[in-house]
Amino acid sequence: NIVLSRIEKSFSQERVLKGIDLEIRDGEFLTLVGPSGCGKSTLLRIIAGLEAQNSGSVRIGERLVDGVRASDRDLAMVFQSYALYPHLTVKENMMTPLRLRDLSVAQRLPMLGRFLPGAAGKLKTMSQAVAETAEVLKIEPLLARKPGQLSGGQRQRAALGRAMVRRPVAFLMDEPLSNLDAALRVHMRTELSDLHRRLASTFIYVTHDQAEALTMSTRMAVMMGGEILQLDTPSRIYADPANRRVAEFVGSPK
Ligand code: ATP
Ligand code: MG
Repeated sequence: NIVLSRIEKSFSQERVLKGIDLEIRDGEFLTLVGPSGCGKSTLLRIIAGLEAQNSGSVRIGERLVDGVRASDRDLAMVFQSYALYPHLTVKENMMTPLRLRDLSVAQRLPMLGRFLPGAAGKLKTMSQAVAETAEVLKIEPLLARKPGQLSGGQRQRAALGRAMVRRPVAFLMDEPLSNLDAALRVHMRTELSDLHRRLASTFIYVTHDQAEALTMSTRMAVMMGGEILQLDTPSRIYADPANRRVAEFVGSPK
C-alpha cells in the first residue's frame, strides 16, 4: 500500500494541502476528484516525488520515500500530454525507460509475473517485455509507427505502454484523458477499467470529472480546498455524501 500521513504543502502564502491522510490499498483504482485548484495534482506530484511536501510523509510499501528521487520510487506517471518522443517509433518509445534505467533483464523478470501471471521466465529480451506489454494494451499493430501517425487514444495507450514496461508499483495518472474528444474519453474509461482489472495493479487517478471518477474507481477521495472531505466507494458517496458540497460535486440528489 501507499500511505500518506499529514501531508502539508504551501506555495508562498497559499496553503494548498492541509494535512492529508490517505491510505491507497494495493490493487485499487483510487480517484482523487475535486474542483479545479483543490490540490489534486499537487498531491499526486508529491506521491510521485516531483514535488516536495513541507511536512508529513509518504510511505510506499515498507519504504519511507521522503527525499527519494522520483525515478527511484518505482511509480509510473502518465500525464495528459503524452510526452512521447516524436522521432521514435512506439516500440522505441517503450524501450527508452528500460534503457534509461539500465536494468538488467534478469532483474526485471521476476517482477513481470505480477503483471502477466505465468509469463515470468519466458521473456528473455527487452523487446519481448515490450511485446508482452503491447499485447496487454492491444497496440502490437502500432509498434512500428511514430506518434504523429497515431490517434489520440492510440497515443494514450502507447504512453501507458511506456509507463508499464517499467513494471511500476503503481500508476499515477493526472487527467490522462483530458486531451481526447468526448466519445474517445468515454471509450477510454472502459479501456482503463479493463486494463486495471487485467493488471491487478494500483491506479491513482486524478480528475475533475465526477462522471469519470464515478464510473472507474474502486474508491474516490473527494478533495476540496486542500482537504479530503470524503473517501469511499463511488456508490456510497453518491448515496450518502458527507456534506452538501460533496453532494453537489458528485451530483447526488441528497
Ligand atoms: P486542476 O483540476 O485545475 O488541475 P488541481 O486540483 O490539480 O486543479 P493543483 O494543481 O494541485 O490543483 O493546484 C492547487 C493550488 O496550488 C492552486 O491554487 C494552484 O494555483 C497552486 N499551485 C500549484 N502549483 C503551484 C506552483 N508550482 N507554484 C505556485 N502555486 C501553485
Ligand atoms: Mg491538476
